[in-house]
Amino acid sequence: MTTAEVEPTLHYRSCPLCEACCGLEITRKGDQIVRIRGDQNDPYSKGFICPKGSTLKQLHDDPDRLTSPKIRTDDGWVDATWDEAFAEIERRLTPVLDEHGRQALSVVLGNPSTHNLGGMIYGRPVLMAAGTRNIFSASTVDQMPKHVSAGLMWGRPDMFPLPDVDNTDYMLIIGANPWVSNGSLVTAPDFPGRLTALRERGRVVVVDPKRTKTADNASEHLAIRPGTDTWWLLGLVHTLFDEDLVDLGRLADHVSGVDQVRELVADYSPETVAQRCGIDAAVTRRIAREFAAADSACAYGRMGAHTTEFGTLASWATDLLNALTANLDEPGGIMFNSSPTQLLGPSEPGGRGFELGRWKGPASGFGEVKGELPAATLAQEITDPAGEIKAMIVLACNPARSFPNSDRIADALEELELLVVVDPYMTATAKRAHVVLPPTSALERSHYDLVFESAMLRAFAKYSPPVFDTDAMREEEILSRLALVLGGQGADADPQTIHDLLIAQMVDSEVAKPASPIHGRDRDEILAALATWTWSEQVIDFKLRVGRFGDHFGATPDGITLQKLIEEHPHGRDFGPLQQRFPGGIKTASGTVELAPEPIVADMARLAAVPEPQGGLRLIGRRNLRTVNSWMHNVNVLIKGREQCTLQVHPDDAATLGLAPEGKAIVRSRVGEVTAPVEVTDAVMPGVVCLPHGWGYEEDGIEMHTARSRPGVNSNALTDDAPLDLLSGNAVLNGIPVEVVPA
Ligand code: SF4
Repeated sequence: MTTAEVEPTLHYRSCPLCEACCGLEITRKGDQIVRIRGDQNDPYSKGFICPKGSTLKQLHDDPDRLTSPKIRTDDGWVDATWDEAFAEIERRLTPVLDEHGRQALSVVLGNPSTHNLGGMIYGRPVLMAAGTRNIFSASTVDQMPKHVSAGLMWGRPDMFPLPDVDNTDYMLIIGANPWVSNGSLVTAPDFPGRLTALRERGRVVVVDPKRTKTADNASEHLAIRPGTDTWWLLGLVHTLFDEDLVDLGRLADHVSGVDQVRELVADYSPETVAQRCGIDAAVTRRIAREFAAADSACAYGRMGAHTTEFGTLASWATDLLNALTANLDEPGGIMFNSSPTQLLGPSEPGGRGFELGRWKGPASGFGEVKGELPAATLAQEITDPAGEIKAMIVLACNPARSFPNSDRIADALEELELLVVVDPYMTATAKRAHVVLPPTSALERSHYDLVFESAMLRAFAKYSPPVFDTDAMREEEILSRLALVLGGQGADADPQTIHDLLIAQMVDSEVAKPASPIHGRDRDEILAALATWTWSEQVIDFKLRVGRFGDHFGATPDGITLQKLIEEHPHGRDFGPLQQRFPGGIKTASGTVELAPEPIVADMARLAAVPEPQGGLRLIGRRNLRTVNSWMHNVNVLIKGREQCTLQVHPDDAATLGLAPEGKAIVRSRVGEVTAPVEVTDAVMPGVVCLPHGWGYEEDGIEMHTARSRPGVNSNALTDDAPLDLLSGNAVLNGIPVEVVPA
């Protein structure tokens, strides 16, 4: 039968490309995808998609996408069987571990792992089997400051404060561009529609050095000097105390440290910070008054504010603003999700709190955060004599482009005795590997947004079955086999043992937990009930069934199961609005929301010592609607048309620097230089230049032919790996001092 004769079939799934998790309706005819559009019946995204969503077809059909393992030989890359690939990893790894021990091994995780069910679940056994403290991830070039402030303030580093966009009257957005990103650390498809509705009923204020799409569509845009968000936010908090606007609301008896905060912000009046930030003191005071007076208000900060030297303080100050105006854990303010797969814990406040710096990177001396060392120290930990790393496993990450001072990292990767990369493309990192292991395409695997359901503004569950069957090795098995090799069980060991161990541990832990709805139940009965599902599905079914909406393995017959979700809710199931979580959800040691935790207080002393900036140009990044990670540049429909990788310069600076509107400019930082096309625009404020990230495909050996047709330049050749946000270990990607001259 030809494709034309085959009846089309409809498939519903979540888009796995970004945090928005939009519902897709996919029409398949035989082995061809004939249409992808927004799923109008998805109760959460209601038909919204962005231009990226429909390109799952192009990504699936991409001839550059790897479909079999690759081994690098003296004669170049050769295709290998999976058995050969794992045997090669074992052959290279064994002498490294024998000679140098476990700490010679490193694991680096990229953010696509969090959009991939197999990657999310079976990445953990890889980490456990590796047995190393040299763990790195994209979190320290992104959101680690938010984890740290959340961990210190309410004891839960993964409990993100979500701006209740749909119910608030006033939203203050600092260094974020959700109109384009569709949300980051908040999963909200159709952010433009949500912001438009908010602007019509209330007020949206955007604080950003660039007049972004979000700023263009806001009620008000304040241009702030890059890297100064922390000072400005402290100016707002100062005003709350200074003008007697502090109101702790419902949580007054569950908040500590208010008087200490009053002292900490005493020196940061709007008048004091005005020159540094470039925002008039009267405007800052007005914003503080408006925020405090609104019936409901939420402050939300992201990359621009957090990827700075004081990113954690910026994140903390943002949530101080929410807490001190009775907007923490309140409808219309900041809320917290309790997702359908979240396992239930004790309902009283209080817990172990959050600890930082339990060990240090041997070469850098920087402390771990959430079990990770800073991405910016990766090259140092490889090349410095005090460092330990000789072998590395990279899961869905491209540190040779996406980590700061990436040229240094690319060189360091060349020194490794073993580099294994799990990636569907021969990227700048993969080309330096010894073995590349390709996962299946997104359309060949099932999906459930285990991570991002906890960032949604509703309690929502959706399962996506695979659109295509495949004989290719699934991520679950790739990672399990990798775990067996790393753990010393050998390349031939049965990966089923990893899954059996993982699911048994989950069940054992839950039946032993007094707060669990299956406490004391027979573990074998639970395991038998799960046995008909595939590996990842067993995990999802288990978590759904013991979650707060679950059937608790028969104890709550009307509750949800994976079977019911698939059969009765193919577009997803909405379980209702967010519920207040505090005080029960506060898990600090004191059982209170700690507004002045000790590490924050200590870092305020570092802030106080920073001199006024001396001028000069500062580099910032930008988000583009048509891209999210570097590999998406290999989709022609997303990169065609106007050049996207341009250096944006304000007209006054272009005139001063002698930059022609259609010309090129050399941009130099402490660590590198690039030559980029100039785009003169008053969207950036004077003194600021702006480059997008993830580009730079000119290097030989990167097998991404569409991307190489418009290679762009790598902004991380300019970002510096020396300055860090000390509390979180997060890289500094915004406000980089640069020099710009005509090329
Ligand atoms: S906004 Fe994100 S999740 Fe939605 S269609 Fe675009 S890439 Fe996919």
